[in-house]
Amino acid sequence: MTLDGKAALVTGGSRGIGEAVAIRLAEDGADVALTYHRQAGRAADVIDRIKALGRRAWAVQTDSADAQAVRAAVAGAAAEFGRLDILVNNAGAGVLGPLAELSLDDVDHVLAVNVRAPFLMAQAAAAQLTDGGRIITIGSCMAERVAFPGGTLYATSKSALTGLTKALARELGPRGITANLVNPGPVDTEMNPADGESAATQSGFTALGRYGRPSEIAATVAHLAGDDGRYITGASIAVDGGFTA
Ligand code: NDP
Repeated sequence: MTLDGKAALVTGGSRGIGEAVAIRLAEDGADVALTYHRQAGRAADVIDRIKALGRRAWAVQTDSADAQAVRAAVAGAAAEFGRLDILVNNAGAGVLGPLAELSLDDVDHVLAVNVRAPFLMAQAAAAQLTDGGRIITIGSCMAERVAFPGGTLYATSKSALTGLTKALARELGPRGITANLVNPGPVDTEMNPADGESAATQSGFTALGRYGRPSEIAATVAHLAGDDGRYITGASIAVDGGFTA
């Protein structure tokens, strides 16, 4: 399998897109560490599924807003598996709302989870990653197209990941490490359920007229993580059903 012998760390791997990524990487052969925030039981379920695939698995409770915890998660994953080949920065906070109603706490929290944590994760991982490793970050289509009001904070945070990804690609390229950004469109998760209040509006902005499935995001992550993705770096890849078309 393409990821045999590799070790991956997926943040926010207890549910949604991160869960699908964790399972897909394990199906492709990787040992997988994951972080979760509050839902220990959900994380344990994912760990059991990874182990059932014959891979090693490890989970650690980590608030992405806590810088020390973020660094410790990277060190813990590398220590658990004795190596680290793939980082998937997935955990995110989806705070939408009118500009006037966003508090300073909202701003600090969203920037800490969506921007500072991926930065710190990448920084800590870069010190551990094998040459030829991968940093894959989950952004959002809202970095490219804000199709409706209420996205000032979220789009601000997700746009920062474009610069992070390009700069990481330049800095780590000499070691054969690639850095890429995957920008999903609306994907059916607890953050954005396909039967939610604004679901019809969001589907309407896609060319395909529907929500994506977490596994459809995981498929692109798996391609970037595998050997076939080795010449892709510094890229922002839309997996959004045409939301930004
Ligand atoms: P979910 O809300 O379904 O899952 C979030 C995951 O992140 C969970 O594993 C959760 O852990 C974890 N998490 C949440 N907050 C923190 C935190 N502070 N510290 C550590 N872990 C945390 O989200 P999605 O799967 O929908 O989203 C995943 C990523 O995809 C996010 O970055 C999101 O912005 C992005 N995205 C999602 C889209 C969508 O339509 N769903 C569209 C575009 C981008 P726990 O289970 O313990 O709470």
